[in-house]
Amino acid sequence: MTDSLIDRRDLEFQLYEVMNTEALTERERFSEHSKDTFDAVIETADKMAKEKFANHNSAADKDEPKFVNGQVEMLPDVKQAFDAYAEAGFLAGRYDYDLGGMQLPESVMAACNGFFTAANPGTAGYPFLTTAAANLIRVFGNDEQKAKFLPNMLSGRYSGTMALTEPHAGSSLADIRTSATPTDDGHYLIKGAKIYISGGEQSITENIVHMVLAKIKGAPAGVKGISLFIVPKFHVDENGNPGEHNGVSLAGLIHKLGYRGTTSTALSFGDDAPCHGYLVGEPHQGLKYMFQMMNEARIGVGFGAAVIGYRGYMHSLEYAKDRLQGRKASEKNPESPQVPIIDHADVRRMLLAQKAYSEGGLALCLYGARLMDDQHTHPDEQKRMEAGKLLDLLTPVIKAWPSEYGPKANDLAIQVYGGAGYTREYPVEQCWRDNRLNPIHEGTNGIQALDLLGRKIWQDQSHGLQLLMQEMQTDLQAATTDRCQQWALSLSETLQQAVKVTQSLGKSLMGGEVDKTLANASCYLHLFGHIIVAWMWLRQANAAANALASANSDSERNFYQGKLQAAQYFFHWELPTVAQDLVLLRNQDDTCLNMKADWF
Ligand SMILES: Cc1cc2nc3c(=O)[nH]c(=O)nc-3n(C[C@H](O)[C@H](O)[C@H](O)COP(=O)(O)OP(=O)(O)OC[C@H]3O[C@@H](n4cnc5c(N)ncnc54)[C@H](O)[C@@H]3O)c2cc1C
Repeated sequence: MTDSLIDRRDLEFQLYEVMNTEALTERERFSEHSKDTFDAVIETADKMAKEKFANHNSAADKDEPKFVNGQVEMLPDVKQAFDAYAEAGFLAGRYDYDLGGMQLPESVMAACNGFFTAANPGTAGYPFLTTAAANLIRVFGNDEQKAKFLPNMLSGRYSGTMALTEPHAGSSLADIRTSATPTDDGHYLIKGAKIYISGGEQSITENIVHMVLAKIKGAPAGVKGISLFIVPKFHVDENGNPGEHNGVSLAGLIHKLGYRGTTSTALSFGDDAPCHGYLVGEPHQGLKYMFQMMNEARIGVGFGAAVIGYRGYMHSLEYAKDRLQGRKASEKNPESPQVPIIDHADVRRMLLAQKAYSEGGLALCLYGARLMDDQHTHPDEQKRMEAGKLLDLLTPVIKAWPSEYGPKANDLAIQVYGGAGYTREYPVEQCWRDNRLNPIHEGTNGIQALDLLGRKIWQDQSHGLQLLMQEMQTDLQAATTDRCQQWALSLSETLQQAVKVTQSLGKSLMGGEVDKTLANASCYLHLFGHIIVAWMWLRQANAAANALASANSDSERNFYQGKLQAAQYFFHWELPTVAQDLVLLRNQDDTCLNMKADWF
C-alpha cells in the first residue's frame, strides 16, 4: 500500500511544463497569485487529503451510513474531513475574494480536488456537491437567495445536493413528474419523489440545500417545462439560520457497490408536510441552468475517474516492486532468486496501460479545467468564446473517456496484485468498485455518446470541431524528435480518417437516418476519445522530449523517459484500436440496431 495519491512530480509537469499554468498569474483575476501560492495550496490539499480523508476511506466503505431512529448514522471522521475542507477555504476556493474565496484558477482547484477524490471519493462527495449546488445559486439565484444560502454553504454550515433523478426518469429528465405549485406567498409547493440523491441526508451539516428540478403546473411538456428550485431541509430565516423542518423526508438509503461513504437517498417532497421550494431564475429554464453547471460536474466526474484510476496505479506499482514471484522466461536455474513481478514484461504491460490511462485522463481533465479558466478569464474576448466552444464540444469526452478507462486501470491494478487484488485486505478492489459509478452518473456514457455525435459535433456549423483541429495542429507541428514526429504522423492520419467518417455520418443525419447513424454513437465516442487522449499524450511527449535534453539528474531523466514510454504505449497499443470503430462507423454497421428484443 502506498501513501502517494497523485504523483506530485507528474502534476507539476502537467500543470507547468505542459500547460504553463503559471501564465495565468498574468491575468487580472489571478494577479495576486504566483506559482508559489498555487504550489502552497496544492501542498495543503495533498497533506489534508492524506490526513483527513485517506484515514477513513476503507472504514467508511466497510461501515457505510445507516438509517437509525430517523437519523443517518455515519463515521465522525466524515464530518471532521468536511469541516477541515471548509475551514481551509476549499469550498469557496474558486470564488471572488468578496465571497470569502481564494480566486484560484479552475485548473488549480481541479488539481487540489483530485487529491481528495484519490484519498476518499465517498467523503469528497459531500463538499463537491455543496460547491456545485452553491455555484448554481451564485450564478442564477437572486440577491435574497444568495444572501440567505451562499455564505452558509461556502462556510460549510450547510451542504448541497443536486436532485434531478426520479424513479421513472433518469437519462430522460424530460419525463420528470415532481410538481411545483405557486402560492400567494411567492414560494412554490413541491411534491414528488427523487431517487439516488447523493448526500440527500447525512449527519454532517446543520442544513441541506437541495437543488430540485420540478415542473410548474401547466408548464410545456418535455425539457422546456423544467424549472429549478431551492428546497432546504429546514426553513431558513432572514439571517440564514435554520428553523422548522420543510417537508422533505428520507424515504430510504440505497446500498451501493462502491462510493459507500456518500449517502445515496430516496427523498420524498411534500408527502408528510408542505414542502416549500424557491424558484431559481426564470420558470422553465431549470435544465438549461443545470446544464450550464454540468460542464463543471462532468469534468469533476472525469477527473474523479482519472484519479481513482491513478490511485490504483500507485498502489499496484508499489506492490509490483515488492512482490517476488518467478524468474525471467530465459532463466533456467530454479535456485536463482525470484524476481519482483515488475521485472515481467506482462506486468509492465499492465502498469504501462494504467499509467497511460490515468495520466492521459488527468491531462485531459486538466486541459478541460484550463478551458474553463480561458472561457472566463482570457483577456482576449475571441479566445474566451473559442475556449467555451471547445469545452462544450469536449465535455462528453472529458466525462466519458476517463470514466471508461479509469475503471479499466483499476481492473488491471487488481490483476497486478493477483489473488491479493481480489481480497478486501488490499485497497485496489475498492478503487474499482468506487470507480464503477463514473460511467453511470452525470449522464451515462451512452448518453454522452449521443450528445457528442447527435449534437455537439454539429453545433454552430461544427465551429468547435474546427477550433479543435487547429489546436491539435499546433501540437502536431511542435513534434521535433523522431519519436514524437512518428506519433504525430499516426495521430494526423487517424484524425483524417475520423474527419472523413464524421462527414459521412453528418450526411446520413442530414438525410434523416437518425436512428441508424446514432446507433453506433458509442463507437464514435471511443474513436473521438482515443484521438483526443492521443493528442494529450503527444503534448506530454513533446514537453518531455524537449526537457529530457537538459535534465540534470537520473530521477529527472527517468521521469521524462517514463513519459515518453507511456506515450509510445498509447500510440502503439491504444490508438490502433480505433481501426475497428472506423470500420463499424464507415459501414454504418446495423447489427445492434436490427437485433430484435424477441431474438434475445
Ligand atoms: C451512486 C449514484 C449516485 C447518484 N447521484 C445522483 C445525484 O446526486 N442526483 C441525481 O439527480 N441523480 C443521481 N444519480 C442518478 C444518475 O444520474 C442516474 O442513475 C443516471 O442518470 C442514469 O439514469 P438511470 O439510473 O435511470 O438509468 P436509465 O436512464 O434507466 O438507463 C439505463 C441504461 O439505458 C441506457 N439508455 C437510457 N436512455 C437511452 C437512450 N435514449 N439511448 C440509448 N441508451 C439509453 C443508459 O445509457 C443505461 O445504460 C446517481 C446514481 C447513482 C448510481
